[in-house]
Amino acid sequence: MDSLLFVGGVVPLTTLDYPGYISAVVFLQGCPWRCSYCHNQHLQTILPSESLPWEDVQALLRSRGNFIEAVVFSGGEPLVQPMLPSAINDIKKMKLRVGLHTAGAVPEMLARVATAVNWIGFDVKQLFEKYSSVTGVEGSGEAARESLKILVESQVDFEVRITVYETMDASDLGDLLKEISDFGVRNVALQKCRYLDESIIEHPIFCDGLFLEDMSKYFDGFFVR
Ligand code: SF4
Repeated sequence: MDSLLFVGGVVPLTTLDYPGYISAVVFLQGCPWRCSYCHNQHLQTILPSESLPWEDVQALLRSRGNFIEAVVFSGGEPLVQPMLPSAINDIKKMKLRVGLHTAGAVPEMLARVATAVNWIGFDVKQLFEKYSSVTGVEGSGEAARESLKILVESQVDFEVRITVYETMDASDLGDLLKEISDFGVRNVALQKCRYLDESIIEHPIFCDGLFLEDMSKYFDGFFVR
């Protein structure tokens, strides 16, 4: 089982998942966390019988080679897959850029792949000591903090994304932004939380111009999506 890459789906063309590049997205199965707002719950468990063969996915990506500039590994949590480094190499052989979406659940794997990819979108969920209130998993905050440290030290191009869910405490968010700024994070996107029925319940901080302006001073790039 360890010699396979478990692919849950492919989006062959998108402009949204790797800033500045036309990409395909490969969604990998498996995630050890259980965030309440997760949009990809069907990918949380590795289901070999529902996995797309990696050879077929590569053939699809090669056929799209003239239309895409990059392939993004997303999930689920791509870091849980032992074959991720090999899959990244397969894409680089196609002369395409490689992006990675991760929440940093497996720091050891992030340390292996951080310098092999061209860009990382890194999800930060809460103050690290309160992570389990979002992920449902004790110890997830320590893993995320360790991964963020690896990311900053790797000097790979990356962006932190924070999903601002309805009940997130505004002062916690402010403390979190200052903490990751101290870590060395330079680019942050605050994302409005889209619930499973696609409704958006906008957090009040998105209407708080003073808060947003104040927080933006901590970063080179500060975006709201
Ligand atoms: S880390 Fe991402 S994939 Fe995993 S449960 Fe949370 S939102 Fe879903």
